[in-house]
Amino acid sequence: MIATPTNPSVRVRIAPSPTGNLHVGTARTALFNYLFAKHHNGTFILRVEDTDTERSNAAFTQNIFDGLRGLGLDWHEGPDVGGNFGPYTQSDRLELYKKYAHQLLDQGLAYYDYNTPDLLDAMREEATAKKLPFVYRPAPLTPEQEAEAKATATQPPSIRFRIPRDRTQIVVQDLVRGTVTFDANLLGDIVLLKSDGIAAYNFAVVVDDALMKISHVIRGEDHLPNTPKQQVLYEALGWEIPQFAHLGMILAPDRSKLSKRHGATAVSAFVEDQGYLPEAFINFLALLGWSPASTEEIFTIEQLAEQFSLDRVAHSGAIFDVEKLKWVNGQYIRSMPIETLAERVAPYLTACPVAETYTTEQWHLLLDAVKEPLVVLSDVTDAVSYFFGDDVAIPAELAAETIETEEGKRVLQVALEEWLPNHADFSTLDETYATLKILTKTLLKDLKVKTVMWAIRAAVSGRVQGADLGKTLFLLGKEKVGHRLAQARK
Ligand code: GLU
Repeated sequence: MIATPTNPSVRVRIAPSPTGNLHVGTARTALFNYLFAKHHNGTFILRVEDTDTERSNAAFTQNIFDGLRGLGLDWHEGPDVGGNFGPYTQSDRLELYKKYAHQLLDQGLAYYDYNTPDLLDAMREEATAKKLPFVYRPAPLTPEQEAEAKATATQPPSIRFRIPRDRTQIVVQDLVRGTVTFDANLLGDIVLLKSDGIAAYNFAVVVDDALMKISHVIRGEDHLPNTPKQQVLYEALGWEIPQFAHLGMILAPDRSKLSKRHGATAVSAFVEDQGYLPEAFINFLALLGWSPASTEEIFTIEQLAEQFSLDRVAHSGAIFDVEKLKWVNGQYIRSMPIETLAERVAPYLTACPVAETYTTEQWHLLLDAVKEPLVVLSDVTDAVSYFFGDDVAIPAELAAETIETEEGKRVLQVALEEWLPNHADFSTLDETYATLKILTKTLLKDLKVKTVMWAIRAAVSGRVQGADLGKTLFLLGKEKVGHRLAQARK
């Protein structure tokens, strides 16, 4: 849980657009904002930017809320928890945008634009054909022209902010990238309210960040080109400009923009579907663009918050390396107390309710024996599958190498005819190890230990790798071991 804020001068936000499920990029931005807030005892705010009415929907909003909470990133203020600066959903704030758009109109800093999107497209195409940048800055209309445009308009006008024509450059101070200078002559006039009355992103974001008293805008570098536009709007409205910090993008291994063609990009695909641990996912996300001062790589969210600073955030892109994620996740799985691991894997065992056939103690022993190679929680189903049911399938290739060789056949014969009836004691783990030793060191001492073990392992588990053989035999018990050895011999 994020602590109650005590520092009013740090207020940050994550402002997702609910046009898709929670994306790893949004989760990383949310995390950096969360860590920054937590580090400074500030406030972390969630704002829903749903002004793209066609692409936004409630199911995506829910997925984003659930995804962020599932990662442990809860917010102090937001649409569902309230706060003193709400509403926190842009579609509930339309009156506010209208008010400030009209203020700019009254000040003569904005104008009604009667040109239709089709006309704009045509102008853009013309500019492109002439290889010129398209900078939309229409000449102001005379009152007569305006009256005429109004009378003949087929749709309501949009409202645009006029970029001051004498402005040559806009200098953005960025906490990650330093000073970034933009050529103001390349900025077209900024849409404030679209023809349908809905605020455009660059305007809504400024009104919201200002009214919500956001101190630091920490977001992806894809928004850097929007920043000069936002900055001129702050200036026009006489509002204090927040500090900006633009994070390098998350890239695919081929350094292109991470997209669906590189595999899953939704947090739920990793955490819910594949069984990555939220705490491991957080740890992995933190290292995407932030580097700790030490060489350590495993951190709890508290440790991350303690160490986090924007100075150690990279402005270059960070590669989304699934192998690294797997490694981090494996570290968490192996270091987790076995009781916790048992709880966490439970949802993945429904198709293979192996835990139910063992006592808690045995089940924990089993889990401990198979946990080493687990990469994601869902791997547990396969890792324990051979402890479930009576029979086990032995792949033909494995059988040919292990139990069907002359030596293998002898192992099975001796095991079934002499070892099990006369020597097998699987009552405790220690006895099981001693029993196994009788087979290798006494009854089959002319064979290599490895040959004997492989044949037994193949027969009882149907695989070459897996839990330690002594533990496997102990957990399967004498009856099941006998049954599987007999099946293997057929
Ligand atoms: N709604 C924007 C997005 O999802 C975020 C804008 C911002 O952080 O300023 O990309």
